[in-house]
Amino acid sequence: MPDRYEGGCHCGNVRYTCSAAPEFTFYCHCSDCQKTAGSPFSVELMIPSDAFEIRGELGTYTVAGDSGKPVHRFFCPRCASGIYLDCEADPGYVFLKAGTLDDASWVKPEMHIYAAKKQPWVELGDALPRYETVPEG
Ligand SMILES: [Zn+2]
Ligand SMILES: [Zn+2]
Repeated sequence: MPDRYEGGCHCGNVRYTCSAAPEFTFYCHCSDCQKTAGSPFSVELMIPSDAFEIRGELGTYTVAGDSGKPVHRFFCPRCASGIYLDCEADPGYVFLKAGTLDDASWVKPEMHIYAAKKQPWVELGDALPRYETVPEG
């Protein structure tokens, strides 16, 4: 993977740079990801927030996550691309949407989370660990 990687929204209003390797990379099959991505799952990179620099105007949408703590979803208000999530249950990290990377070819998902919500017509052709919700701890 590159030392630094960049990405942004579809229209170019929002751009970001990241200077640390992801802690975890995963497929998320949760209902919120399905709704907000308009797709059966999303792929996210868990990144230290102090290595994440973002510029451009952002919109926010907040809901309670599984933990009961707020999950803030950030998107471009112009083109509506979802960029990242800030989960208060995971302080110090942001969850970046892999599809917003300029080059996502190096991304290596390591697990499936919220597999209990996976659509039955999504066939997983990998041997990655699957968690009904999230891994313990
Ligand atoms: Zn945009
Ligand atoms: Zn999700």
